[in-house]
Amino acid sequence: MDQEAILRIKDQLQERKSELLRLIKEQQEEMGVIQSTRSPDWLDLTTATENIHLLMTLGDNERRELDDIEIALGKIDDGTYGECEACGRKIKSARLEALMTARLCKKCKDEEEATLKPTSPDYNIGWRAIEQDPTLLAGAGEEEQDE
Ligand SMILES: [Zn+2]
Repeated sequence: MDQEAILRIKDQLQERKSELLRLIKEQQEEMGVIQSTRSPDWLDLTTATENIHLLMTLGDNERRELDDIEIALGKIDDGTYGECEACGRKIKSARLEALMTARLCKKCKDEEEATLKPTSPDYNIGWRAIEQDPTLLAGAGEEEQDE
């Protein structure tokens, strides 16, 4: 990947970073509003707790993406951006254009998925399983029917 392309990606990463920071700030403000809303109604309180939980979960994803962006930006500064963390080879430009925060080359990523290492930073067992077998979601909560 040439310097010009890396600089372009750096711009995009910084743009995404500001966007994420804004989103996280908004969520924190929203959480503050929910927490300061005092209601004697037990049902309302339950809803508020659920909302806080939902917002925290959303914030988690954004914080994780923000971490990935910080790592990628650090690598651009170090001059190691685009190198696979596992084998040290160059990650293909096309892969980096598609996934700016990619930390592994295609080959290592495939190997990792084949061996299913849950400790890997890119690995998410729940969603991977659902992506591979969407019926996990579709069938949820439904009774099996005997004909
Ligand atoms: Zn590799």
